Amino acid sequence: MSNVLIVAEQAQGALKKATFHALGAGREVARRTGGKLVAAVLGAGVGGAAEELAAHGVEVRVADAPGLEHYLAESYAPVVAQLAKDVGATYVGAGATAFGKDLLPRVAARLEAAMATEVLGFAGDGGAVTFRRPMWAGNVLAEVELATPVKVFTVRTTEFQPAPREGQGSVVPVAASVDPAALRTRFVSFKEVKSERPELTDARIVVSGGRGTKGDFKEVEALADELGAAVGASRAAVDAGWVPNDWQVGQTGKVVAPELYVAAGISGAIQHLAGMKGSKVIVAVNKDPEAPIFALADYGLVADLFKALPELRAKIKAGK
Ligand SMILES: Cc1cc2nc3c(=O)[nH]c(=O)nc-3n(C[C@H](O)[C@H](O)[C@H](O)COP(=O)(O)OP(=O)(O)OC[C@H]3O[C@@H](n4cnc5c(N)ncnc54)[C@H](O)[C@@H]3O)c2cc1C
Repeated sequence: MSNVLIVAEQAQGALKKATFHALGAGREVARRTGGKLVAAVLGAGVGGAAEELAAHGVEVRVADAPGLEHYLAESYAPVVAQLAKDVGATYVGAGATAFGKDLLPRVAARLEAAMATEVLGFAGDGGAVTFRRPMWAGNVLAEVELATPVKVFTVRTTEFQPAPREGQGSVVPVAASVDPAALRTRFVSFKEVKSERPELTDARIVVSGGRGTKGDFKEVEALADELGAAVGASRAAVDAGWVPNDWQVGQTGKVVAPELYVAAGISGAIQHLAGMKGSKVIVAVNKDPEAPIFALADYGLVADLFKALPELRAKIKAGK
């Protein structure tokens, strides 16, 4: 029987949405292995987060210690690795967020485990669950088998439904003493970009602009605000310095799967599509009828974005 440990992500004691999707993925692995699903919460003052997770019917191991207040991979990795051993986990996972991507490779190294990243789905059962993951910007889907006794993975959270609240799990405190002075890395400060708009990866609607904006994102932002959407961008727009790099959608940016994705002045390079092709409805506005984005779009508008976006915005406003 192979138990599954999912590492929760929290900020100031509040669980991140990605945690519930990772838990949903963990539940599927546990179903396949016949093992137990356990969640790990690390931090300081995270009792509330642990209780909330337990309400999803899982056993929660909580390491609540002042030395874990600020996330550092160096301090978190040994605690997670020890927890994995304590609960007999042969599968250890988290969301493929900045947190999961930073932490889990170090956990894998400590557990001498092979790792599969950005997992989209699972197959197999028992101790031989395999991992489906994208390669070459999502053009190839590989079925990966990890040959080590312990297997570590991160999941693309947009591919898994959040775990529903079902049953009541238990909360088990674990001792974790971290001496910040003994670490080679030090927490200095956390600078958060405050925005009225929803977080790109959480947003129901995303409006993105590309090189076709020629650096003028006013219409893209105005449409986003009319729709209560997040603003995204292609790498061309980010590399040109027109918009911040945390707006980038794609293979080397963020992966989004909103209900509606509007791509304005974006050609549809495979590296961009890798970050948004899971969107439910895709609308493309492009001057070039041959632009590859139209092959993927549910609705395509061959038009100048500087004309089409204000018209769209006016229609949406009138329809409200
Ligand atoms: C390793 C690697 C990783 C990468 N990662 C990413 C990534 O994460 N995300 C990403 O986006 N890219 C990524 N890229 C870059 C990618 O290959 C493309 O270069 C990039 O996506 C192009 O951005 P774009 O569509 O905005 O620009 P372009 O390809 O130049 O397209 C601009 C489009 O705007 C249209 N247009 C011009 N004017 C107007 C107008 N007035 N109205 C309407 N349409 C107009 C044009 O017809 C054109 O189709 C990566 C590349 C590599 C090699």
